[in-house]
Amino acid sequence: MTILRKQYGATNRFYWTTRHFVWLVPLIDLVILVGLAAVLGIVARLGRRWGQEWTFRAVGGLALLPPLLAGFPGIYASAGLLLTTGIAWRLTPVLSRRPAAVRRLVRVGLPLLAAAVLALGASLASLDWLEARREWTSPLPSPGSPNVLLIVLDTVGADHLNLYGYQRPTGRTLAELARRSIWFREARAASSWTLLSHASMFTGRWPHELSAGWMSPLDGAHRTVAEYLRSRGYATAGFVGNLQYCGWDSGLARGFTTYRDHPFLRLADLRASVLVDRITTGALAIQYYAEKFTVFDGIGAAVRPFWQKFLYDQKRAEVVHHEFLEWLDHDRDPNRPFFGFLNLFDAHSPYELRPAGIHRFGARPRNQHEEDLLAQWLGEFLGAPSDRLVPPFRDRYDDCVADLDEQLGWLIDQLDRRGVLEQTWIIITSDHGESFGEHPGVFFHGRSLYRTELHVPLLIVPPVPHFSPRVVNEPVSLRDLAATIVDLASLGATSPIPGTSLARIGNGPAPAPVLSEVIPNRLSNENPSEWLRKTRWPSAALTEGDWTYIRSGKAAREELYRIREDPGERQNLASEPTLQPVLLRLGAELDRLSNGALTPDHFPP
Ligand SMILES: [Zn+2]
Repeated sequence: MTILRKQYGATNRFYWTTRHFVWLVPLIDLVILVGLAAVLGIVARLGRRWGQEWTFRAVGGLALLPPLLAGFPGIYASAGLLLTTGIAWRLTPVLSRRPAAVRRLVRVGLPLLAAAVLALGASLASLDWLEARREWTSPLPSPGSPNVLLIVLDTVGADHLNLYGYQRPTGRTLAELARRSIWFREARAASSWTLLSHASMFTGRWPHELSAGWMSPLDGAHRTVAEYLRSRGYATAGFVGNLQYCGWDSGLARGFTTYRDHPFLRLADLRASVLVDRITTGALAIQYYAEKFTVFDGIGAAVRPFWQKFLYDQKRAEVVHHEFLEWLDHDRDPNRPFFGFLNLFDAHSPYELRPAGIHRFGARPRNQHEEDLLAQWLGEFLGAPSDRLVPPFRDRYDDCVADLDEQLGWLIDQLDRRGVLEQTWIIITSDHGESFGEHPGVFFHGRSLYRTELHVPLLIVPPVPHFSPRVVNEPVSLRDLAATIVDLASLGATSPIPGTSLARIGNGPAPAPVLSEVIPNRLSNENPSEWLRKTRWPSAALTEGDWTYIRSGKAAREELYRIREDPGERQNLASEPTLQPVLLRLGAELDRLSNGALTPDHFPP
């Protein structure tokens, strides 16, 4: 039912769960129902006369509930249960008059269902095997072709790294690597949130050319860099920590023969079962009221860690690193160069340091009140927190950034020990930064196009030991990473991927235009969430030479900043009479680049 809804429903185009849900969910539901039937069966034994029919009714009502809720997600669980219990109530006497027919139905139906579940599981496994086989048997690229490894430090803004002038030592590894890299001082993401930014990096297309949105995955209209490299004999493998917007159903996995996203049997994935999800929601509501009226205070505190793990379990960089190293050591074809992609999610909200991480910045110990306020802030989808809370949140974020940098250092060390660095180009960047109220009311990421969210680290680390380091001061766009990756793999000449190789900047071509966009959710009118409605109007930013020009919102408000003199974008120069020619030129350039797709008229209210 969930699969049908995804195919034909207008909203919720993501599953947000492991691709194994097709066989896991029926299994989980079966375990719940059998458990319940067992309990009711015992009760039935005690009250013989009425027991059996009551058991049928209760279990029947629950068994009918998951397909109903999956088919009609808008329905309240309690109303749904009432309806299905009603149906079971009427059906039970009819069925109990025909015990032989019921037995036959169970005898035929159960094996059929079990076979369907097995077939679904087996089809997933065989699809994986076929993909792998296609890779093993494809012709090898020319000898000496290097590996390319793309590492995305999700949510790590350049302005929070000491390499880019931040006062806290948050990025020692990056600073060290920059000494032997092509180091880009003004790299900008093509969007300020995960999926659009990655989708642009993978296809070489601007966000407005892509299908990806808050509620819609990247479709197959444009070739990805992984697809192209695989077609030219590369082994391709992705390992991601961001399970929301980098999972298998985001469209980013296309072209990767190996793609590790949801860890197998993660506790949080049990919510793929609509039954588990609705039971959880009910339990959460009960806990909320219990805590609100300060009944069970101690119990609330005791179960909170369990809920955290169940609801928001995060896939840490250390897990991603181990998956990657394991693939490197055991699963890949050593004769074939690889294109690897890692997405490390540890710096993303809720800015939770891994247990082994070190608190470096801000006051300690962290108190429960602060934790609760942070959870509330995140739960309410990130309106402005009170001024008092911003510094502790920033401390937590910086802690996570520094810890992620340390883990990156560990990974580089591991690659060095394996001799991989000698044949590998490593690109280290981020998909976007994070705002902490530097502009009034602007927090988190994905809704603005200010520098806090677009200015990202970018290093191209060459294979050791050769190479002379270089610094690129001109603004560049991560949209050109796809062309860069293809160029580093020496496949640029015949590549269908658009863009300019960033590895050649300073040695030939001038930097290409730098456009960043937040595209309104294409399904926003059908989605009731206030947060999504706020992002309905398109915004675009163009950085060129010394200038950043931003056009945003329904009224197409214009902003103009001088990058070098005013990196914090505090003084909007758009109404400066002497700068009108600059404003006009950048506005026209923006329209040309985006083909007029970013004017508010393009999106009806
Ligand atoms: Zn992200």
